[in-house]
Parts: sequence; C-alpha cells; structure tokens
Amino acid sequence: MPHKTAGQGELMNRRNFLIQGSTALAGLLLTNSPLRVYADHHEGQKLPPLPYAYDALEPHIDKRTMEIHHGKHHQGYVNKLNAAVARSHDLMHMSLEQMLRNIDKVPKHLRQSVINSGGGHANHTLFWNIMKPGGSEPMGKVAEAIQSTFGSFDAGSEMFVKAAKTHFGSGWAWLVVDENKKLQIYSTSNQDSPLMQGHTPILGLDVWEHAYYLNYQNRRADYVDAWGKIINWEQVNSNYIAAMSG
Ligand code: MN
Repeated sequence: MPHKTAGQGELMNRRNFLIQGSTALAGLLLTNSPLRVYADHHEGQKLPPLPYAYDALEPHIDKRTMEIHHGKHHQGYVNKLNAAVARSHDLMHMSLEQMLRNIDKVPKHLRQSVINSGGGHANHTLFWNIMKPGGSEPMGKVAEAIQSTFGSFDAGSEMFVKAAKTHFGSGWAWLVVDENKKLQIYSTSNQDSPLMQGHTPILGLDVWEHAYYLNYQNRRADYVDAWGKIINWEQVNSNYIAAMSG
C-alpha cells in the first residue's frame, strides 16, 4: 500500500451508516395492511453521497468509472436491497449490519438477495470512505497493529496486495478485525461481506472489473497499485478503533 501525504478530507462514519436504516414502525401492528404502512413511512436504504467529487481520485480512478460505479452499480444494490426488505416484516426491523451479521436469520427466500445487494451496499459504502484525494500516510493504532500482526507494515501491505491481485473473478480484498479482535487479510467472492462471518471490515478493495475496466482494462495489478496511493488511513484507523471497541 504505497502512499503520500495530503490534506485531510471530510470523514464519514461508516458505522453510523451501517447501523442506521430499517427502523421499527409504530403503526405496523395496528393495521391490516403493514406493507402499505411500510411504503408510506419507511424510507429504506439510501445511496450515500460520495465524500468527494467524481473526478477527485484521478488519475488513479477516473471520473467516468466513479460515476458509473457509484451512481449505477451502488445505486442498483441499494434498490435491490430495498426491494428485498419490502418483502419481509422481519427485515424491516433490522439494520443492514444486523442483517449481514445474522444472515442465517434472514428468510431463506430473501437470503441471497441480502447477501448480494446488502453486501454490495455495505461494501461500497465502506469503499468510498477509505479513499481520499491525494491519499495519506499510514498512521495511528491500525498501522501499529498491522506491523505487530504481520511482522512489518510492508509485509501486511504485500499480503493485502497479493490477495487483491490474485483473487479469481469478482470480489474484494479485505483487512478485517476478526471475532478475537485480531487483524486478518483475505479476499471474498462477489459481494460477500466479512460481516457474515463475524468480522468487521476496516479496509476493502473492490476488484470487480466494473471498478477498473474502463481505465485499466485487464490490468488489475496496475489498478491495485494505483489504489494504494489514495487510501484514507485516518478513516481506516477510525474504523479500526471502532471495531476494537465494539
Ligand atoms: Mn463495485
């Protein structure tokens, strides 16, 4: 994960985002038409705005890719998740994080939709916020933890980059805090979220072709290397501290 110094961007709190969402509806039990109540009063999940302009990550990630990735792909996950949630009273009362952390409790006929669309929504929301124009230096407790867990910061960085470059097909590379509060690096396929195995993702890299193909075509390795220059380490550190205290 190469890096360079830049000014601080605005930070968004992912956890705040992940725990908002579905809320209990007071009127739900008082009507014979709960879906009507849901449609009238429940706002559902929303596409979070990017914390920077679409062209702000250039030249590493180009404007057109960001526009399509955020405005079409991420919006699509939000829309499909809301459609799935609208079909289940149980899901209406669960936050996105609760759904993914308790995926076995999601009704079977909706489970794969929540894995794909809910995972897609959570993964991308994290992704936008762990990048920033100009990038940043690794810092804080997370940098220390990477060093102590993987032997050196560079060794951890190398492991992450390898996971991203060698993952077969669509998926994500992750730095997570596991159930024992230890760091782990691995990749997952499709939109599978580390939350489903009780892990809290603090840094993630989207290696779906839609994340890079317009600019990099088949050169995923070049995209991975360029992405290392736009990591928002202050946000990753905040994510780490939140995960360790949660
Ligand atoms: Mn994506």
